[in-house]
Amino acid sequence: MIVAKFGGSSLADAKQFQKVRAIVMGDERRRVVVPSAPGKRFSDDDKITDMLYYCFYARQRGDDFDAMFEKIKARYFEIANELSLSVNLQPYLEEIHAQIIAGANADYCASRGEYLNGILLANYLGFSFLDAAEVIFFDKNGVLDSEKTNRRLAKRLSAEMPAVLPGFYGSDAHGNIRVFSRGGSDITGALAARACEAEVYENWTDVSGFLMADPRIVANPLPIRHVTYHEMHALASAGATVLHEDSVAPVSQDGIPTQIRNTNDPSHPGTLITSTAVRRENFSIFAGIAGKKGYSLLLAEKQHRDASPAFMQGVFQAAQHCGMDFQLLSVNGSHLCLLIETEQYETKSIGFWEEISEMGVPYFHSVEPGFACIVLVGYGVVHNYQTINRIYKALQKREIEVSMITQGMSEISTWVAVQEDDMEDAIRTLYEEFCRDTH
Ligand code: ASP
Repeated sequence: MIVAKFGGSSLADAKQFQKVRAIVMGDERRRVVVPSAPGKRFSDDDKITDMLYYCFYARQRGDDFDAMFEKIKARYFEIANELSLSVNLQPYLEEIHAQIIAGANADYCASRGEYLNGILLANYLGFSFLDAAEVIFFDKNGVLDSEKTNRRLAKRLSAEMPAVLPGFYGSDAHGNIRVFSRGGSDITGALAARACEAEVYENWTDVSGFLMADPRIVANPLPIRHVTYHEMHALASAGATVLHEDSVAPVSQDGIPTQIRNTNDPSHPGTLITSTAVRRENFSIFAGIAGKKGYSLLLAEKQHRDASPAFMQGVFQAAQHCGMDFQLLSVNGSHLCLLIETEQYETKSIGFWEEISEMGVPYFHSVEPGFACIVLVGYGVVHNYQTINRIYKALQKREIEVSMITQGMSEISTWVAVQEDDMEDAIRTLYEEFCRDTH
């Protein structure tokens, strides 16, 4: 069976609901459907979730929120009326309005967007409605209880399929509604796919999958047909916007592929994300390129050369104690160079140099901001000895100075540090060099 999650723009109005129904009915394996709340119908439209948060904050300030609530009501009624649905939304909306007046918390308010959309969609599809509060659980610290969720979801879904399970929320140990972070319906879909041991988790959105580069930087980048969860993670860590990061683990750990597809172009295959690279047509090609500004180069150098690795270990440990994430650029007997997000360095490095000084080894250090980090991702990137050579040559031709190149420890990525002002040009150059001819 297939779990199909539909994002907010896929369910923004009655016309979009019709497309969703055609997709769901087009394959009888699509037996669990996870909707987001209605999103934008046009670029400066409002998302229902934002409108609900608005109501919550207005109520908190003691301001009137009725005008906004009327707008929310109108959106749902319009969908129900245009599709001639039999469900009566009035009592649900009255209950939500009363709860907001009574001081319901932000999570409850925000979650009602998915809740109401789920009721509408279940009615429209003729599927049962499974309230996520009864099957998605958070522990007392507000962290997802994935095992309890998995057991309960598996049991309820197998009994109630075909079903609509609203995304984004669940309940905590006291029965209060909790939501995931924004975009969290992706996680609900992944949890459902895991619980049902789905053959594929379809994530329907308004784009035909991922692109090999940011289209704001590279003109008409090629689509990514197939990528692994690992590669996707590497691209995301350098700024590519992909799935909600917590939606990967539930499916990738069980080897369930995720397929990104376009509700407005349903015949397009989109992007398939799998745990292993086995099914990739061309094993050695690049998956894509991404880049992010706002990095600093951090250099620590021992003044006396000795063979002891204790100093380097001490620097790593100090970084770890401060909770700083970094990319190792180079290390040898006496020096260590790290690439770290400037904001992280500024907020987390308190005590970092002191801890290193306590080792009693004389050293020199420097921290230079203003760098961008570009990552080239794909199996075969690291194994191809020519890669680094090609990167240097291509960038040199454009007179772009490369501050550092390193190959990621996961063996699927090569990181290139350049000056921030050179990032876009460097991405375009490397895209032309490596990605343009891979399909
Ligand atoms: N509706 C929620 C949001 O806007 C969750 C989601 O769409 O996944 O973030």
